[in-house]
Amino acid sequence: VVDAVGVVDAVVIGAGQAGLSAVHHLLRRGAHAPGAPSPIEGAPPGGPGVVVLDAEEGPGGAWRHRWDALTMATVNGIRELPGMPPVEPVPEEPASRAVPDYFARFEGRNPLPILRPVRVTRVEDDRTSPPDPATGLPLLRVHAERTDGGPAPAPLRTRAVLNATGTWTRPFVPAVPGARDFRGRTLHTAEYTRAEDLAGLRVAVVGGGISALGFLLDLEGVAETTWYTRREPVFRDEPFTEEAGRLAVAGVAERVEAGLPVRSVVSATGLAWTPALRAAVDRGLLHRHEMFTRILPDGVLEAEGRRRAVDVILWATGFRHELRHLRPLHLHGPAGGIRMQGTAVAADPRIHLLGYGPSASTIGANRAGRAAVTELLVTLAGDAHKKP
Ligand code: FAD
Repeated sequence: VVDAVGVVDAVVIGAGQAGLSAVHHLLRRGAHAPGAPSPIEGAPPGGPGVVVLDAEEGPGGAWRHRWDALTMATVNGIRELPGMPPVEPVPEEPASRAVPDYFARFEGRNPLPILRPVRVTRVEDDRTSPPDPATGLPLLRVHAERTDGGPAPAPLRTRAVLNATGTWTRPFVPAVPGARDFRGRTLHTAEYTRAEDLAGLRVAVVGGGISALGFLLDLEGVAETTWYTRREPVFRDEPFTEEAGRLAVAGVAERVEAGLPVRSVVSATGLAWTPALRAAVDRGLLHRHEMFTRILPDGVLEAEGRRRAVDVILWATGFRHELRHLRPLHLHGPAGGIRMQGTAVAADPRIHLLGYGPSASTIGANRAGRAAVTELLVTLAGDAHKKP
């Protein structure tokens, strides 16, 4: 279908919170599938032709993969998608079911087709066609594959990319000497499903964030856990105010505007006490050890020099942004990060990163979707290029 229409105005990659927020705002600005009319009655004419590609089998983004014990009662708070009522709170329902159901309802109301399961493998300059007069830059060529083994779609030519690929597919595990010789099992947050899988085992839980705390609680009474973090986790006594949230996000934004490597928003906000966590401290469950210095074939060497036998190392050590498909565009600068200007890559107005850096939360993803669409339409109209 797309091949027949030639160049599309924009490709949205990823249909998690950030990608869907962009879809909502694009539709309100008259966006439509290539060669089709706008599906929204009364939408402004002349909106951009847009293709949305998502690697998942169905709606939900990374929420489809969260572990069973992460319920609507234990998530941090999920912001509603634009134009939607809030997620209905059924506290005991796993987030991996509740959020995908909610996203599916959103997609029913926002009928811009999402092509699934289609993973983008490479985005590069298209040198075969003349530059886009609006930006003075080459068009982009988007290569993709179907993750269900179906035939690869034809490469797309596009004027711009709204990249909203999240982090779930890029688990981060720090390098620790001896890791290769470990004979036990290693597991990352992205692979954890339920406590029963680790029943009766000795588990080293590594990480100072919300996921590590969740695993310690989930594994209580099922496995024998020891908790390791590099730094003393910082808990907040006071409720997190909007002002504190803004400051934390501003700190992360400052770094990306300077082209520095991204820090997570949570690392800037600290952890909030909950009644469940306070009770866990009273039971002696949250006893933190300094990060181990070496992995041994049958355990770990602790910072004080003690050997501890463990069967499983559970890395709750976070994620990196999934941007590997953008490597051919060489977006990273000398300071180690991608310098951003709003949601656009400062050196390349064809590329917007949503859910990246300061917008890596459900509220941030919502805002990024709106901001990116506004900026994108300016760029496509050629107005950004005309600026002195
Ligand atoms: P995702 O939801 O990850 O969506 C990315 C989409 O892109 C996926 O559908 C994926 O399949 C697709 N994709 C990836 N690569 C490609 C590719 N190459 N081609 C095509 N498609 C691709 N935030 C909160 O505000 N509240 C919370 O309670 C909360 N809890 C969290 C709990 C955990 C365990 C984690 C890891 C994060 C949590 N966050 C929370 C952060 C929040 O999940 C994210 O910031 C937000 O949901 C991310 O949305 P996203 O659209 O950027 O990414």
